[in-house]
Amino acid sequence: MEYIIKNGIVYDPINGVNGEKMDICVKDGKIVEKVSEDAKVIDASNCVVMAGGIEIHSHLAGPKVNTGRMMRPEDSIKEIYAKKGLRCGTGFSIPSTFKTGYQYCELGYTFALEAAMPPLKARHVHEEFLFTPQIDVAALPLFGNNWIVFKYIMEKDYKALAAYVAWMLKATKGYGIKIVNPGGTEAWGWGTNVHSLDDPVPGFDITPKEIVKGLGMVNELLGLPHSIHVHPNDLGHPGNYEVTIETMKLLEDVKAKPKIGERWSSYHNTHIQFHAYGGTSWKDFESKALEIIDYVNKSKHVTIDVGQVTLDETTTMTADGPMEYDLYMMTKFKWANCDVELETGSGVVPFIYSRKNPVHSVQWAIGLEVLLYTDTDKVILTTDHPNAGPFTRYPRILAWLLSKEYREDWLYNKVHKWARERTALPDADKEYDMYEVAKITRANQAIALGLSESMGHLGVGANADIAIYEIDPEEKNGKKIEKAFRYAKYVLKDGEVIVKDGEIVKEKFYRTFYLDVQVDESLMNEVLKDVEEMFKRYYTINFENYVVTEEYANNWKPIKIDATNL
Ligand SMILES: [Zn+2]
Repeated sequence: MEYIIKNGIVYDPINGVNGEKMDICVKDGKIVEKVSEDAKVIDASNCVVMAGGIEIHSHLAGPKVNTGRMMRPEDSIKEIYAKKGLRCGTGFSIPSTFKTGYQYCELGYTFALEAAMPPLKARHVHEEFLFTPQIDVAALPLFGNNWIVFKYIMEKDYKALAAYVAWMLKATKGYGIKIVNPGGTEAWGWGTNVHSLDDPVPGFDITPKEIVKGLGMVNELLGLPHSIHVHPNDLGHPGNYEVTIETMKLLEDVKAKPKIGERWSSYHNTHIQFHAYGGTSWKDFESKALEIIDYVNKSKHVTIDVGQVTLDETTTMTADGPMEYDLYMMTKFKWANCDVELETGSGVVPFIYSRKNPVHSVQWAIGLEVLLYTDTDKVILTTDHPNAGPFTRYPRILAWLLSKEYREDWLYNKVHKWARERTALPDADKEYDMYEVAKITRANQAIALGLSESMGHLGVGANADIAIYEIDPEEKNGKKIEKAFRYAKYVLKDGEVIVKDGEIVKEKFYRTFYLDVQVDESLMNEVLKDVEEMFKRYYTINFENYVVTEEYANNWKPIKIDATNL
């Protein structure tokens, strides 16, 4: 099928296209130079045209998400999804799988990354992906509290660690290295936590600093498309901004060396909002966003995503087990907790962010400070779905960025005064333009994930993943902005129209991306001996039952990386 998208106002930062009125041609799933006279015309007059959106950090599939769904029937009934020709779904902050796929699609998103896959439970993640339509997907396995990782770092055997990472990515069908509260989740197995980069991990002669640095070096040794993806120690605690900056500094002299893609960063700090806190308690709690932003703007190796608080009732879930316990002690509502053998752990706690709450209002403002003051080549829009709010609030966040008037209506009339008194948000004059919106919702993600050859832009040869929004680029009415981005007028995926006039017109399942990293065979055999030994001694399941097999995807998309010369 051929299409020509006519007269749209195009925003494509990767190709430097900033609001030009131009036609986009589509043939055989790709963007092409031109099409034949018979091509179907899509009229995009008075519409903004961008590449499909890319989600870089979300909890959309797997055991944590499903635990959230089971423990929160009240969330399930809060939002019912029932549309003709589509599967029904439920859930506001933790939607069912079909609803998740549909709603990303309605926003014009065409790819989503599950940000925390417990390796032992990888099959559950992939099973949910099997029923998540409309988007390409991938998942990051957790490495930051894994005993085999600890063993090789303690032995300073980084080649063995690299081979183990390569094996794990293939075995779990994962896309990169996720680190959550390095050492802290392991400590939680002993009822404790780590609080600084030099705190030793109980039972191991290792520190968080060595874990982050070791995995960061190995990431570049292998030349993976994405950098290490880090949730540093001390998430959500007053005064944590210093640990955050110290953790970023660890990778300062580790250069990005991706074997594919155009990534320039060697460190991605996720949901930075939760890591930008000053004060010594909730009483003197304040924003330290500007300190963090100052470091990020000066650095040449860091990308961040925001984790914007949307001020909704939501469900928090993370591999940061001890943090969820702290949160539970504060809220005393519900709490689920899990230890994933020698790999990781997790917790799930419902949370109500309130506009009237001083701390929540400061958290809300910190996210906006990050988005408004950081170099827009380095910052990415997320809500850490569902931790700071559901991804379906992205349109409202864009409205806060595009319209100062709308943002200030919230700042001065809707949230607690601490947001004005304890952050720099009142001084932020900036308003985003559509070019910057395209950066923080698709282009920056594509580069950071090493996917920019085929995604995140509208150049010839790219996948024809396209979102068309019916909006005047100069629109300042917050409600109108929110509506336009909530339901894309058209979405094309692989060159097919799957959304028309805001309605999903075709349900389809797409690809699961993973990394197929080749390392030297004799090195791999040595490492597999260690892994099998661990299975014999510690794991409750057999080695043979661990690996995610072929039938766990609708369509695998392996990305081959040759790392045989380490
Ligand atoms: Zn997260």
